[in-house]
Amino acid sequence: MSAALLQVHDLVVDFSGFKAINGMSFTLQPGEIRVLIGPNGAGKSTFCDTIIGRVPAASGRILFKDQDITRLSEHAIVGRGICRKFQAPGVLPSLTVAENLAIAARQDRRWWRNLGRALPAAERAQAEAVLEQVRLVDRRDVIAGELAHGEKQWLEIGMVIATDPDLLLLDEPTAGMGPAETARTADLIKSLAGRHTVVVIDHDMAFVEQLAAPVTVMHQGKLLKEGSVAAIRADAEVAAVYLGRTKHDAAA
Ligand code: ADP
Ligand code: MG
Repeated sequence: MSAALLQVHDLVVDFSGFKAINGMSFTLQPGEIRVLIGPNGAGKSTFCDTIIGRVPAASGRILFKDQDITRLSEHAIVGRGICRKFQAPGVLPSLTVAENLAIAARQDRRWWRNLGRALPAAERAQAEAVLEQVRLVDRRDVIAGELAHGEKQWLEIGMVIATDPDLLLLDEPTAGMGPAETARTADLIKSLAGRHTVVVIDHDMAFVEQLAAPVTVMHQGKLLKEGSVAAIRADAEVAAVYLGRTKHDAAA
Protein backbone atom coordinates (compact mmCIF):
# COMPACT_ATOMS: atom_id res chain seq x y z
CA MET A 1 0.00 0.00 0.00
CA SER A 2 1.20 3.50 -0.75
CA ALA A 3 -0.05 6.68 0.90
CA ALA A 4 -0.51 8.40 -2.47
CA LEU A 5 -4.02 9.02 -3.80
CA LEU A 6 -2.98 9.09 -7.44
CA GLN A 7 0.13 7.69 -9.09
CA VAL A 8 0.82 8.03 -12.78
CA HIS A 9 3.72 6.04 -14.17
CA ASP A 10 5.34 6.76 -17.53
CA LEU A 11 2.07 7.59 -19.28
CA VAL A 12 1.96 7.81 -23.07
CA VAL A 13 -0.97 9.01 -25.18
CA ASP A 14 -0.64 8.60 -28.91
CA PHE A 15 -2.87 10.53 -31.34
CA SER A 16 -2.15 8.69 -34.62
CA GLY A 17 1.61 8.91 -34.16
CA PHE A 18 1.75 12.21 -32.24
CA LYS A 19 2.56 11.60 -28.58
CA ALA A 20 0.58 14.31 -26.78
CA ILE A 21 1.60 12.64 -23.50
CA ASN A 22 5.09 11.25 -23.72
CA GLY A 23 6.29 9.62 -20.51
CA MET A 24 4.42 11.64 -17.87
CA SER A 25 4.83 10.60 -14.23
CA PHE A 26 2.99 12.26 -11.38
CA THR A 27 2.05 11.60 -7.74
CA LEU A 28 -0.62 13.26 -5.60
CA GLN A 29 -1.06 12.91 -1.84
CA PRO A 30 -4.57 12.90 -0.37
CA GLY A 31 -5.91 16.35 0.51
CA GLU A 32 -3.37 18.32 -1.48
CA ILE A 33 -3.98 21.05 -4.01
CA ARG A 34 -1.67 20.88 -7.00
CA VAL A 35 -1.36 23.40 -9.78
CA LEU A 36 -0.56 22.08 -13.25
CA ILE A 37 0.92 24.61 -15.65
CA GLY A 38 2.76 24.50 -18.94
CA PRO A 39 2.74 26.24 -22.32
CA ASN A 40 -0.18 25.79 -24.68
CA GLY A 41 -0.13 22.30 -26.14
CA ALA A 42 2.00 20.86 -23.28
CA GLY A 43 -0.61 18.12 -22.80
CA LYS A 44 -2.34 19.33 -19.61
CA SER A 45 -5.93 18.83 -20.80
CA THR A 46 -5.06 15.51 -22.47
CA PHE A 47 -3.47 14.38 -19.20
CA CYS A 48 -6.74 15.04 -17.33
CA ASP A 49 -8.74 13.42 -20.14
CA THR A 50 -6.63 10.30 -19.75
CA ILE A 51 -6.94 10.17 -15.94
CA ILE A 52 -10.73 10.37 -16.25
CA GLY A 53 -10.81 7.68 -18.98
CA ARG A 54 -11.94 9.84 -21.88
CA VAL A 55 -8.71 9.40 -23.83
CA PRO A 56 -6.99 5.98 -23.86
CA ALA A 57 -3.41 5.49 -22.68
CA ALA A 58 -1.06 3.85 -25.20
CA SER A 59 1.18 2.73 -22.35
CA GLY A 60 1.94 3.49 -18.73
CA ARG A 61 -0.20 3.08 -15.64
CA ILE A 62 -2.61 5.18 -13.60
CA LEU A 63 -3.22 4.03 -10.02
CA PHE A 64 -5.97 5.61 -7.92
CA LYS A 65 -6.11 4.52 -4.27
CA ASP A 66 -3.65 1.78 -5.26
CA GLN A 67 -6.04 0.35 -7.87
CA ASP A 68 -5.15 0.30 -11.53
CA ILE A 69 -7.71 2.47 -13.36
CA THR A 70 -5.76 2.81 -16.63
CA ARG A 71 -8.20 0.81 -18.73
CA LEU A 72 -11.46 1.64 -16.95
CA SER A 73 -14.31 3.53 -18.62
CA GLU A 74 -14.98 7.16 -17.72
CA HIS A 75 -18.18 6.05 -16.00
CA ALA A 76 -16.32 3.54 -13.83
CA ILE A 77 -13.61 6.09 -12.97
CA VAL A 78 -16.19 8.70 -11.92
CA GLY A 79 -17.73 5.95 -9.77
CA ARG A 80 -14.37 5.47 -8.04
CA GLY A 81 -14.36 9.13 -6.98
CA ILE A 82 -12.69 11.29 -9.64
CA CYS A 83 -14.61 14.20 -11.13
CA ARG A 84 -13.58 16.61 -13.82
CA LYS A 85 -14.92 20.07 -14.49
CA PHE A 86 -14.57 21.14 -18.09
CA GLN A 87 -14.02 24.63 -19.41
CA ALA A 88 -17.49 24.68 -20.98
CA PRO A 89 -20.29 25.34 -18.49
CA GLY A 90 -22.35 22.29 -17.56
CA VAL A 91 -25.11 23.89 -15.51
CA LEU A 92 -28.77 23.34 -16.34
CA PRO A 93 -29.63 26.90 -17.38
CA SER A 94 -33.40 26.80 -16.81
CA LEU A 95 -33.13 25.61 -13.18
CA THR A 96 -32.18 27.70 -10.16
CA VAL A 97 -28.79 27.63 -8.45
CA ALA A 98 -30.22 25.58 -5.56
CA GLU A 99 -31.92 23.13 -7.93
CA ASN A 100 -28.69 22.58 -9.88
CA LEU A 101 -26.84 21.77 -6.65
CA ALA A 102 -29.66 19.51 -5.44
CA ILE A 103 -29.45 17.50 -8.65
CA ALA A 104 -25.68 17.20 -8.38
CA ALA A 105 -26.01 16.05 -4.73
CA ARG A 106 -28.31 13.16 -5.61
CA GLN A 107 -26.79 9.82 -4.82
CA ASP A 108 -29.01 8.28 -7.47
CA ARG A 109 -27.46 9.60 -10.67
CA ARG A 110 -30.65 8.82 -12.62
CA TRP A 111 -31.78 12.22 -11.41
CA TRP A 112 -34.34 12.72 -14.17
CA ARG A 113 -36.41 9.96 -12.53
CA ASN A 114 -36.88 11.88 -9.32
CA LEU A 115 -36.70 15.44 -10.58
CA GLY A 116 -39.32 17.39 -8.64
CA ARG A 117 -39.47 14.93 -5.76
CA ALA A 118 -38.29 15.93 -2.31
CA LEU A 119 -34.59 15.42 -1.65
CA PRO A 120 -33.60 13.05 1.14
CA ALA A 121 -32.47 15.05 4.19
CA ALA A 122 -28.80 14.10 3.85
CA GLU A 123 -28.64 15.21 0.23
CA ARG A 124 -30.50 18.42 1.02
CA ALA A 125 -28.00 19.19 3.78
CA GLN A 126 -25.15 18.44 1.37
CA ALA A 127 -26.58 20.82 -1.24
CA GLU A 128 -27.01 23.54 1.43
CA ALA A 129 -23.44 23.10 2.65
CA VAL A 130 -22.11 23.45 -0.88
CA LEU A 131 -24.25 26.54 -1.49
CA GLU A 132 -22.44 28.15 1.45
CA GLN A 133 -19.04 26.86 0.40
CA VAL A 134 -19.29 28.43 -3.04
CA ARG A 135 -20.83 31.55 -1.46
CA LEU A 136 -23.96 31.55 -3.59
CA VAL A 137 -26.49 31.46 -0.73
CA ASP A 138 -27.95 34.84 -1.71
CA ARG A 139 -28.21 33.66 -5.35
CA ARG A 140 -29.92 30.36 -4.55
CA ASP A 141 -33.21 31.16 -6.31
CA VAL A 142 -31.67 32.78 -9.38
CA ILE A 143 -32.11 30.90 -12.67
CA ALA A 144 -28.67 29.53 -13.52
CA GLY A 145 -28.86 30.83 -17.09
CA GLU A 146 -28.99 34.38 -15.69
CA LEU A 147 -25.86 34.14 -13.53
CA ALA A 148 -22.76 36.18 -14.31
CA HIS A 149 -19.90 34.22 -15.90
CA GLY A 150 -17.95 33.88 -12.64
CA GLU A 151 -21.01 32.80 -10.68
CA LYS A 152 -21.72 30.12 -13.26
CA GLN A 153 -18.18 28.77 -12.85
CA TRP A 154 -18.58 28.70 -9.04
CA LEU A 155 -21.89 26.92 -9.37
CA GLU A 156 -20.20 24.36 -11.56
CA ILE A 157 -17.40 23.86 -9.08
CA GLY A 158 -20.17 23.48 -6.49
CA MET A 159 -21.85 20.82 -8.60
CA VAL A 160 -18.59 18.90 -8.69
CA ILE A 161 -18.13 19.28 -4.91
CA ALA A 162 -21.73 18.14 -4.32
CA THR A 163 -20.87 14.75 -5.80
CA ASP A 164 -18.20 14.57 -3.03
CA PRO A 165 -15.35 13.26 -5.20
CA ASP A 166 -11.99 12.36 -3.68
CA LEU A 167 -10.15 13.93 -6.60
CA LEU A 168 -11.30 17.01 -8.55
CA LEU A 169 -9.73 17.99 -11.85
CA LEU A 170 -10.36 21.66 -12.70
CA ASP A 171 -9.26 22.69 -16.19
CA GLU A 172 -8.82 26.47 -16.38
CA PRO A 173 -11.51 27.41 -13.84
CA THR A 174 -10.70 31.13 -14.18
CA ALA A 175 -11.02 31.34 -17.97
CA GLY A 176 -12.78 34.59 -18.85
CA MET A 177 -12.72 35.93 -15.26
CA GLY A 178 -11.54 39.35 -14.09
CA PRO A 179 -9.12 39.83 -11.14
CA ALA A 180 -11.81 39.95 -8.41
CA GLU A 181 -13.54 36.81 -9.65
CA THR A 182 -10.17 35.08 -10.04
CA ALA A 183 -9.22 35.90 -6.43
CA ARG A 184 -12.52 34.53 -5.16
CA THR A 185 -12.00 31.35 -7.19
CA ALA A 186 -8.58 30.91 -5.56
CA ASP A 187 -10.19 31.26 -2.10
CA LEU A 188 -12.84 28.72 -3.00
CA ILE A 189 -10.29 26.18 -4.24
CA LYS A 190 -8.08 26.70 -1.18
CA SER A 191 -11.10 26.00 1.04
CA LEU A 192 -11.35 22.52 -0.54
CA ALA A 193 -7.88 21.40 0.67
CA GLY A 194 -7.92 18.55 3.14
CA ARG A 195 -11.39 17.27 2.38
CA HIS A 196 -10.77 16.94 -1.36
CA THR A 197 -7.67 16.54 -3.47
CA VAL A 198 -7.59 19.01 -6.35
CA VAL A 199 -5.60 19.40 -9.55
CA VAL A 200 -5.98 22.90 -10.98
CA ILE A 201 -4.81 23.64 -14.52
CA ASP A 202 -4.22 27.30 -15.25
CA HIS A 203 -1.78 29.62 -16.92
CA ASP A 204 -2.66 32.83 -15.08
CA MET A 205 0.39 33.31 -12.83
CA ALA A 206 -1.48 35.77 -10.56
CA PHE A 207 -4.00 33.01 -9.86
CA VAL A 208 -1.24 30.44 -9.33
CA GLU A 209 0.40 32.79 -6.78
CA GLN A 210 -2.91 33.16 -4.94
CA LEU A 211 -3.36 29.39 -4.73
CA ALA A 212 0.09 29.17 -3.11
CA ALA A 213 0.16 25.43 -3.79
CA PRO A 214 2.91 23.17 -5.16
CA VAL A 215 3.29 23.49 -8.92
CA THR A 216 3.91 20.82 -11.55
CA VAL A 217 5.15 22.08 -14.90
CA MET A 218 4.44 20.04 -18.03
CA HIS A 219 6.25 20.46 -21.32
CA GLN A 220 5.96 18.35 -24.46
CA GLY A 221 3.80 15.75 -22.76
CA LYS A 222 5.92 15.14 -19.71
CA LEU A 223 6.94 16.52 -16.37
CA LEU A 224 9.49 19.32 -16.63
CA LYS A 225 9.70 20.57 -13.02
CA GLU A 226 7.93 20.44 -9.68
CA GLY A 227 8.28 22.88 -6.82
CA SER A 228 6.90 25.87 -4.94
CA VAL A 229 5.55 28.83 -6.89
CA ALA A 230 8.68 30.80 -5.97
CA ALA A 231 11.03 28.01 -7.11
CA ILE A 232 9.14 27.58 -10.38
CA ARG A 233 9.17 31.32 -11.01
CA ALA A 234 12.95 31.40 -10.49
CA ASP A 235 13.63 28.32 -12.64
CA ALA A 236 15.64 29.00 -15.79
CA GLU A 237 14.42 25.88 -17.64
CA VAL A 238 10.79 26.79 -16.99
CA ALA A 239 11.44 30.35 -18.13
CA ALA A 240 13.09 29.06 -21.31
CA VAL A 241 10.08 26.89 -22.13
CA TYR A 242 7.67 29.78 -21.74
CA LEU A 243 10.00 32.17 -23.54
CA GLY A 244 10.41 29.72 -26.41
CA ARG A 245 6.67 29.58 -26.70
CA THR A 246 6.37 33.36 -26.65
CA LYS A 247 8.88 33.68 -29.48
CA HIS A 248 7.07 30.97 -31.41
CA ASP A 249 3.72 32.67 -30.85
CA ALA A 250 5.13 36.03 -31.86
CA ALA A 251 6.49 34.51 -35.08
CA ALA A 252 3.16 32.80 -35.86
P1 ADP B 1 -2.80 21.88 -23.16
O1 ADP B 1 -4.07 21.59 -22.43
O2 ADP B 1 -1.57 21.75 -22.32
O3 ADP B 1 -2.82 23.21 -23.86
P2 ADP B 1 -3.63 19.68 -24.85
O4 ADP B 1 -3.64 18.51 -23.94
O5 ADP B 1 -4.93 20.29 -25.18
O6 ADP B 1 -2.61 20.78 -24.30
O7 ADP B 1 -2.93 19.26 -26.22
C1 ADP B 1 -1.66 18.64 -26.27
C2 ADP B 1 -1.31 18.39 -27.72
O8 ADP B 1 -2.11 17.33 -28.21
C3 ADP B 1 -1.54 19.58 -28.64
O9 ADP B 1 -0.50 19.61 -29.59
C4 ADP B 1 -2.88 19.27 -29.27
O10 ADP B 1 -2.98 19.85 -30.53
C5 ADP B 1 -2.83 17.75 -29.35
N1 ADP B 1 -4.17 17.13 -29.27
C6 ADP B 1 -5.07 17.27 -28.27
N2 ADP B 1 -6.17 16.53 -28.50
C7 ADP B 1 -5.96 15.90 -29.68
C8 ADP B 1 -6.72 14.97 -30.47
N3 ADP B 1 -7.92 14.55 -30.08
N4 ADP B 1 -6.17 14.53 -31.63
C9 ADP B 1 -4.94 14.93 -32.02
N5 ADP B 1 -4.17 15.80 -31.33
C10 ADP B 1 -4.66 16.28 -30.17
MG1 MG C 1 -5.83 22.75 -22.13
